[in-house]
Amino acid sequence: MKPSLILINPWIYDFAAYDLWSKPLGLLSLATDLRRKGFDIHFIDCMDVDHPAMIEHSTLKSPKRRQYGTGKFWRQIISKPTALEGTDRPYSRYGLLPEIFEEAVRRIKNPSAILVTSLMTYWYPGVFEAIRRTRKIHPEVPVILGGGYARLCRDHAIRYSNADRVVSARGIPAIYDTLENLGISIPGEVPDETKPHYPAFDLLRKNHYICLMTSTGCPYRCHYCASHFLFPEFIQTDPDEILAEILFWHRKWDIRDFAFYDDALLVSSNTHTEVLLDRVARFNLDLRFHTPNAIHVREITKPIARLLHQTGFQTIRLGLEASDSGKRWDLDKKISKGDFSRAMEHLRGAGFHPGQIGAYIMMGLPGQSPDAVAETIHHADRCGAIPYLAEYSPIPHTQLWEKAVDTSMFDLSSEPLFHNNSLLPCWDSTQKRQIPRLKQLVSQVREKHR
Ligand code: SF4
Repeated sequence: MKPSLILINPWIYDFAAYDLWSKPLGLLSLATDLRRKGFDIHFIDCMDVDHPAMIEHSTLKSPKRRQYGTGKFWRQIISKPTALEGTDRPYSRYGLLPEIFEEAVRRIKNPSAILVTSLMTYWYPGVFEAIRRTRKIHPEVPVILGGGYARLCRDHAIRYSNADRVVSARGIPAIYDTLENLGISIPGEVPDETKPHYPAFDLLRKNHYICLMTSTGCPYRCHYCASHFLFPEFIQTDPDEILAEILFWHRKWDIRDFAFYDDALLVSSNTHTEVLLDRVARFNLDLRFHTPNAIHVREITKPIARLLHQTGFQTIRLGLEASDSGKRWDLDKKISKGDFSRAMEHLRGAGFHPGQIGAYIMMGLPGQSPDAVAETIHHADRCGAIPYLAEYSPIPHTQLWEKAVDTSMFDLSSEPLFHNNSLLPCWDSTQKRQIPRLKQLVSQVREKHR
């Protein structure tokens, strides 16, 4: 019998969460690799919105699903961790009811190890809860914790997670090293040609969309972003391989919606994304593409905008971040004066309507004034884009981290819960009093462009 592993995508514990094409792509890629090395994989997705037991037995309100596979998650209000008791917003567990999770874990007999992923640093309570409940059922089985939180807050994870191993090195080989270190031998290559070579979306219950990552890393070094720490090199996959993956999911699984997870989808596009989209266009398929991670404004030329429109991009998100009365700031170099209005002209000229184009605007950076945010909202408005406020979350290992720690009234260094963007941890009470005004401004602009 093949040795088996349990892979867990844990709950989100937060003030708010929304499924904006959100899938544990790293864990699904790992699942494919482990399967090809001969392991039997049991995947438990705490964020499963289609779980039949939730639908049949849950007393919770069914999550409303929206366009293109996005929507709400199951949600249960829970008590706040002590560190967040001073906040007045409700705190929730997003995902399956714990008893349904435990039932799924219990059904798996004699796993060799349990692998738990993690994403945002301040979501660690959901990770810890998954580890605690799994340990209760399989007390002798080693638990391995990886993912974003494990890498960014390694010491915290080692100290408090109760995992046997915390993997903070990058890449799949680190997982094999950890398994071997725990005495779990790797069965060896057993290619199963009936299973896709791509991230193991087949392990999820339903797939309303597929997430694609055509590159890792980003050549820019924005001071607030951890891309450089998590993916030190910028590596792009051959466009033909990506095309084959898109065709696979579309033809075999009837998938129409694809979300790009790239940090830098349009960088070096003449040898990458332009090539890919040129080929996609030739197939004339009825596909819809989405860029929830934002694309680089300065890379949007007239031909690229045309290609994006021609191939079915429906959701364009742009990283506008901040325009401080026409002066650029020193926190990033990815956009210069005039880039945004030029990109918008190209997109509008190609046929996109304002409802399809959103501009992410940073709010809550250390030293940023609410007026600077308002000015950026006006700038998006003038150019015909819908503004989306992106509240700043301080992230360890970024260039801005030290300044964030110095500025914040919260103890960011010792408590990752305080990294939560909903707290706007680097703004003081005077700055926070301006938030309703900024949100109102955003609503007005949205209404105008609707
Ligand atoms: S351009 Fe985007 S992904 Fe790249 S470093 Fe800046 S914020 Fe991060």
